[in-house]
Amino acid sequence: MNYQNTLEFALAADKNDPLARFRDQFIIPQHNRQDMIYLCGNSLGLQPKATAEVIAQQLSNWSKYAVEGWFDGDTPWMFYHKTLTNSLATIVGALPAEVVAMNTLTVNLHFLLVSFYKPNQKRFKIIMEGGAFPSDQYAVESQVRFHGYDPMDAIIEVFPRQGEDTLRTEDILQRIHEHADELALVLFGGINYYTGQFYNLQAITKAGHDAGAIVGFDLAHAAGNVPLRLHDWNVDFACWCSYKYMNSGPGGISGAFVHQKHFGDATLNRFAGWWGYREDTRFEMKPGFKPQESAEGWMVSCSPVLLLAAHAASLKAFAEVGSMQPLRDKSKMLTGYLEFLIRQMNRERGNGVFKIITPADPAQRGAQLSVICDNGKAIFDYLVKKGVLGDWREPDVIRLSPVPLYNSFADVYMAGKILKEAVSAIQPFPEGRAL
Ligand SMILES: *Cc1c(COP(=O)(O)O)cnc(C)c1O
Repeated sequence: MNYQNTLEFALAADKNDPLARFRDQFIIPQHNRQDMIYLCGNSLGLQPKATAEVIAQQLSNWSKYAVEGWFDGDTPWMFYHKTLTNSLATIVGALPAEVVAMNTLTVNLHFLLVSFYKPNQKRFKIIMEGGAFPSDQYAVESQVRFHGYDPMDAIIEVFPRQGEDTLRTEDILQRIHEHADELALVLFGGINYYTGQFYNLQAITKAGHDAGAIVGFDLAHAAGNVPLRLHDWNVDFACWCSYKYMNSGPGGISGAFVHQKHFGDATLNRFAGWWGYREDTRFEMKPGFKPQESAEGWMVSCSPVLLLAAHAASLKAFAEVGSMQPLRDKSKMLTGYLEFLIRQMNRERGNGVFKIITPADPAQRGAQLSVICDNGKAIFDYLVKKGVLGDWREPDVIRLSPVPLYNSFADVYMAGKILKEAVSAIQPFPEGRAL
């Protein structure tokens, strides 16, 4: 795309955008009675207009049927989670039986680690990206301790090379290879929350398997953002949340993937509950756990129907688009446009005001640029005051994420314009500073 830093260009791009109509399916928060420029869908996706109605329908079923609602009505709660399966499978590239909506994200990570982190004296190590999302770090540390190992010995973190901000795939693969004899598990994010780097999940999975390890991913920032092919890549397990790029509301339900090759494996540990029990005989309530032979076999509790309803409402937009590819195409253009505007500001200032730590290669990022600059927090606060909402991550990053379902090229243009104002207002420009 031949980008230009003009409102005319942005409006023309919006006019040609086949996904432009989806913006109207969302409630855009207001700032001074205008649409806010919301670039924070990586943290909490916007509310679809359909959500209230879909939740209201389940409240109504509850009032009409009470306990009978588990089996009665147009969407019996007993099977309600299954209404999401096809959409979810399309989004993460799985067979329908391999995905399930349940629990919340860190909870799913723990349950999956119970099954897939199987340390023994020889193989007990876990390899992760350095600077993984804190909740994942805490989950892994506590799992390692639970098995009686010391996190200092058991957790190997891969960090970028000196002077670099993101990981090189070759370095990740090399570290996996180096530790091949002692690795139990490779556990990576799909997209790193801080840098926005999209890892090569297929290559990491293959290297992990070559090393004899199990491979799992936390896809919090990848699901609904970039196309995935978990089944074909032979990923063992994965989990994600639905409130970031999948717009299902704060604390919304999480999703989990288990590759079908593991369904019949009776040697896997599980922390079981009745909702993972075989559906046909669950209500015989007999002792002795018999799992469903699908990802649903990892369910524990009965479904939180109101959370599922919010998720169902938001997945409608994804189902209407049909696949991740059109979203990805637009996403690359939007993020590319933001990058273009920031680079232009850098050129105008001679030495560069902003350092973008997110990879420049579109294949290695999703809908996010992580930007570092002098006085970053003051610049960020200025943006918020002017109705541009990204987010600030300690110690020094502004994250800006244009989301293809509801953000427009005009949003990105305006964000660039206001960012430039912010720089003029705040940054004193030390001579000769180069980032
Ligand atoms: C957002 C995010 C979480 C949040 O976990 P919750 O259990 O939903 O609070 C965890 N891990 C990663 C990688 C995330 O990006």
